[in-house]
Order: sequence, then C-alpha cells, then structure tokens
Amino acid sequence: MFVYADNAATTAMSKTAEEAMLPALGELYGNPSSLHQKGREANFALMGAREAIARCLNAEAREIYFTGCGTEADNWAITEGARMGAEQGKKHIISDAIEHHAVLHTLKKLEKQGFDVTYLPVHKDGVVRLEELKAAIREDTCLVTVMYVNNEIGTIQPIQEIGAVCRERGILFHTDAVQAVGHVPVDVAADNIDMLSLSGHKFHAPKGVGALYCKKSIRLKNFIEGGAQERGRRGGTEAIPAILAMAAALTESCAHMEENMAKVSAMRERLTEGLSKIPYSFCNGSADHKAPGIVSFCFEGIEGESLLLRLDLAGICASSGSACTSGSLDPSHVLLALGLPHEIAHGSLRLSLCEYNTMEEVEYILQQVPEVVRTLRQMSPVWMHMLEKMPDPYR
Ligand SMILES: *Cc1c(COP(=O)(O)O)cnc(C)c1O
Repeated sequence: MFVYADNAATTAMSKTAEEAMLPALGELYGNPSSLHQKGREANFALMGAREAIARCLNAEAREIYFTGCGTEADNWAITEGARMGAEQGKKHIISDAIEHHAVLHTLKKLEKQGFDVTYLPVHKDGVVRLEELKAAIREDTCLVTVMYVNNEIGTIQPIQEIGAVCRERGILFHTDAVQAVGHVPVDVAADNIDMLSLSGHKFHAPKGVGALYCKKSIRLKNFIEGGAQERGRRGGTEAIPAILAMAAALTESCAHMEENMAKVSAMRERLTEGLSKIPYSFCNGSADHKAPGIVSFCFEGIEGESLLLRLDLAGICASSGSACTSGSLDPSHVLLALGLPHEIAHGSLRLSLCEYNTMEEVEYILQQVPEVVRTLRQMSPVWMHMLEKMPDPYR
C-alpha cells in the first residue's frame, strides 16, 4: 500500500487546480498588463482569481497581493510591520516560540537591526496564552505575529482573541495562516487580522505561489521594485497559471470546508487513538485546539529518522517535524518549546492528512507504526538503558 501522509509539507494538486491552470498554459498566454485583447483576457482572469481568494477570506480583492510563496508573504508582512513601527519610534515585536522559520528568521534579521522581539512561550499544550500576550505588550510594541495553525503539531492559536487585543491597543497583527487557509474557516474581519500569509501548495494548488492579505488602510511599501503589478508593490509579470490554480483550489476547499474537516478530523482521531496504544508514546499539542489533519507523536527510545526510513520502505510518506528542519540533526524548535527533552524530541513522527486520505490508509498506518517502533526499540541502546529502570512493556 502507498500512503501519502505528509500534507503539511505539501499537498498533491487537485484536478480542479489542474483544470484551472491548463488554459493559462495554452491560449491564455497574454500579459495582464498589455492593453490588447490577449492582455485584457489574462487581466480578466487575474481579477477573477483575486476576487475568489478575497471571498474565501472575507476580504476585498484590492487587499490581496500575490506573492511567490508563503515565505515571501511572511517576510514582506513582518518587515513592513517593523518598518512602519520604527517610523513611529516603536521597535518592539511580539511573536512566539513555535513559528515557522520564514517568520523566525525574519525576526532574527530584525533583531540584528535593533528591534526587540518577545517570543511568547506556548506551554506543554502548544498554545499561546492571551494573558501572557497582554502582559508582554509595551508602549513601543508595533507588531504581533502569531501563526494560525502550527505546521508541526497542528495546534490552533486563539487568533480572534489575539486580534481583538491588538486592535484595542492599536498594534498591527500579522498571522502566518499557511496551514490554516483551505483547512479551517478563516475570516480576516471576524478574526481582527491586519495581515495574513497563505501559500497555494498547502491546499492542492501548485508550488511557487502564495498571497499576502493586507488590510486596505495599511500602506505597504514595495516588496521589490519593478512594474505596476500588484498595485506597484510587487513588480514582475504575474504567475497566471499558478494564480488561477490557487484561486480554483481555494474556492473548492472553502466550498467543502465542513465535510472535509469532519472527514479529516475523524481520521486524525482514529490515528491518535491507535498510536496512543504504543507504550511510552505521547501525542504532542493540545487535543482541544487542533487542526483537522496534523498528528504529532513522540516515541521514547527511538530516532525519528530511522522511523521515517522504515515507514518509507512500508510505503508511508511521513515526516519527523517540519520539512525545513529535516536534514539537520537539531531537534525541532517546536518540540523543544513544548518542554520536551532533546532525546524525546528526537523520536518524533508527524503524520499530516488531507481529504484525499482514507480510513483504510489510516488503518494501514496503525498496522505499520507499532511494529516499526517495536523493532527499532529492540535495536536501540537508549531503549535498553530505559529497560534497566522499568518493566519491558513488550513482555
Ligand atoms: C509551508 C509553510 C510556510 C512556507 O510556505 P512556502 O510557500 O513553502 O514558502 C510558512 N509557514 C508555514 C506555517 C508553513 O507550513
């Protein structure tokens, strides 16, 4: 059996996205900035896509800026939020310890430029506390950036409440919603969001396209210099095929949001229940504030990397955490922020599901993982060491 359970790293493109893309790879080749009929045709399609994306977020079309990826949207929003703050003499930013590297590394860059960043703790459950956010706000706080859904452990942050606090205090609020958009309902007005990043390839659109929502009252400066595209803020001829596909994919996800959430959540719950039966295993992140598709576990006494290789041999595509940190031997900053010791954070497994997965696949995962964990433990010196102090659960 083959099971793709790494949807938080990227998703397969949907038929809908592919079909929306095809015309732009063929007849719809005009440059949307051209005045002639081919240009107008492309521009019309582009406007439609912008409106569709805006509708899914409860925003206005002119508040959507297409970008090359989610990382770009994060960089742009945070750098601009900081710049606007600095102009008013405010150089304090609030974020949290479990952000994606697109956010964390942008913040590190700003720290080197003299900004002061407070990283809120997320506690054992992986959730930011509203009281701690309020307590961290200072006179010179200009920006709060807290992700909507965490990509490694799937926790959902109290975005609406954070947004309300920021609005009340007149502080800009950005959220990296790359794992949320297309998966859970996102409403920028109801959630009090000023800026939001999204990425197409996390909801069945192609890779290499994303968007930044920026409230119309906020005056963004240009991300790059160039032509008049994206209201002059991000020059460069638009990636029409990818943008049309992204709009179609998001429209489809939003139309089926409830049924997809129900289906994916049921699979996640079954997976969590089954994996919890493995001795000395535990589920990471609050069970009450969870995105539908992301499951993260730690298994004591094993190495996550060996687990992944064995699962790959069994046809299961999974991850140990974020795709961005794999390849380095450092344990995930997200798992460490939950307070897990290094040796336990090393034995992590992330399974991320989408509506294309089936309950049969979940059952297959539940047959394979316990066996692989057991085999690896039998070869593990760390496990042997643990057995000196506890009864062998496999006897
Ligand atoms: C994938 C991801 C990103 C980066 O998006 P790209 O389009 O791959 O640049 C940013 N934040 C989160 C939470 C993600 O999961």
